[in-house]
Amino acid sequence: MNELVWQNAKVWFFDLDDTLYKTESIYALGLERAFAVFYKTSGASITWDEFSSQYQVAREEVKVQLGQSPACRNRLLYFKRMLESFGICALAPLALAMDNAYTSAYHEIDFDPARTLLKMLRTRAKIALLTNQTCQAQLEKVSRLDPRGELIQWIITSEEAGSEKPAESFFKFALARTGCRAEEAVMVGDDWNNDIEGAIALGISAIFLNADQKSKRSSIPHFKSMEDLCSTLL
Ligand SMILES: [Mg+2]
Repeated sequence: MNELVWQNAKVWFFDLDDTLYKTESIYALGLERAFAVFYKTSGASITWDEFSSQYQVAREEVKVQLGQSPACRNRLLYFKRMLESFGICALAPLALAMDNAYTSAYHEIDFDPARTLLKMLRTRAKIALLTNQTCQAQLEKVSRLDPRGELIQWIITSEEAGSEKPAESFFKFALARTGCRAEEAVMVGDDWNNDIEGAIALGISAIFLNADQKSKRSSIPHFKSMEDLCSTLL
């Protein structure tokens, strides 16, 4: 990326999950907490292994049913489908309680590295989150990342956009919401197809932030961590 883009970007677009924090341990903890509620409340003799594998089955079924619809990210649908497959009575309160238990895992996210990065950037540009998720789930996270709204000006979810990254319509929605032109924005994300290809297809500069994969284009800068990106911005 040339220096001018760094200096002149008016808005920095950030993906959230696996860009500003790591999801793996948080999602695992969320599912464990959902199982604890299920086990205590349902009285069903279902093991953790059965529970976790049925969760993946239910999640896949919902995604197949809903295709590219942003509702396919709604975890409550996974729990509801799962309880249906187990033949659980009084499904409604249990599905909601499991979803709440899962969401409580977001309290454990370490957002300190993200805050350091965003604090550094906010003096030179505005910041928007561009995320393929439901509004509810992402507001839960952002209420911990930026509780006073000092860092992030816009939270743009696929649920509101009506399409998901890498769709052109999603990025056009983000540009319209933030009032900036493609050449005035920079997209930072960990997903090559959704974040990087989606952005550059519209002429938005991109930065690949991924510890495990390398940039597939020499023109796209690559950083392994937020700390690496921070040190370059200094
Ligand atoms: Mg991501």
